[in-house]
Amino acid sequence: MKVVKTIKELRQLLPEGKSKGKTVGFVPTMGALHRGHLSLVQRCKKECGATVVSVFVNPTQFNDKADLERYPRTLEADVQLLQAAGCDVVFAPDEREIYPSPDTRVFDFGLLEKVMEGERRPGHFNGVAQVVSRLFDAVKPDCAYFGEKDFQQVAIVREMVRQLELPVEIVRCPIVREPDGLAMSSRNALLTPEKRAAAPLIAKTLFAAVDKVCSVDLPTLKQFVADAINASEHLRLDYFEVVCARTLQPVASLNDDCSKQACIAVYAGEIRLIDNVRLT
Ligand code: AMP
Repeated sequence: MKVVKTIKELRQLLPEGKSKGKTVGFVPTMGALHRGHLSLVQRCKKECGATVVSVFVNPTQFNDKADLERYPRTLEADVQLLQAAGCDVVFAPDEREIYPSPDTRVFDFGLLEKVMEGERRPGHFNGVAQVVSRLFDAVKPDCAYFGEKDFQQVAIVREMVRQLELPVEIVRCPIVREPDGLAMSSRNALLTPEKRAAAPLIAKTLFAAVDKVCSVDLPTLKQFVADAINASEHLRLDYFEVVCARTLQPVASLNDDCSKQACIAVYAGEIRLIDNVRLT
């Protein structure tokens, strides 16, 4: 496995594989890797000739400076995990490599970015699009792997690929959870023991919502989720939305004729956790 820090080094490595007819698969990450990330790497390895993983904490997607500052950075351990996972190339650039000058591009994702994370985290998806498009330009992947954990992000990246007409297939991978149900996240490492002990209630409540969906209406379901989460002194509901899985727009009723996704964001102290589940 090679670890490179510059686009120049990356460009020297990649044509080798391409000329042998290998497909290049890409997994963008912000590091502090866990089994969720590694599931993307495994899928990529299975489907592509060469696997590139980037580790870069992208400042432009953080709307909260404190969140950026405390974000865990564990490059050495990440490199070891990626080596063991059979990754071929780790791309770990510094900020100047990705942004030699400020990225002033403004994307327009329409209604996709007006809800949930986009609504609560102004500029977040613009920053995601900036970094993903730059990373795609550096790696030139045939396929790129994204986790459903960030459900809205996958939709945004797909829309960005469509708008920019990029020749990249976006592959969506299922959420990997801790044994107690908590969706794996690099931010879980930042939870105090009390908050960590309370956090599985998020997934538990989502799964309970799935069980209820046929027997209650939407306002009742929303109230049930809000009450269940806020009953914990360690958790505070930011939002719970039932959206159409394709358009990400909130449904008016649970009887709406579309595939529905239940999406949630919860504060555990300062740490904001997200999760989602297919409803129907
Ligand atoms: P991040 O490092 O948080 O930017 O995540 C990098 C990629 O890993 C994104 O596509 C995430 O959606 C994905 N990912 C993060 N956590 C999980 C998880 N628990 N299960 C599956 N994919 C995940």
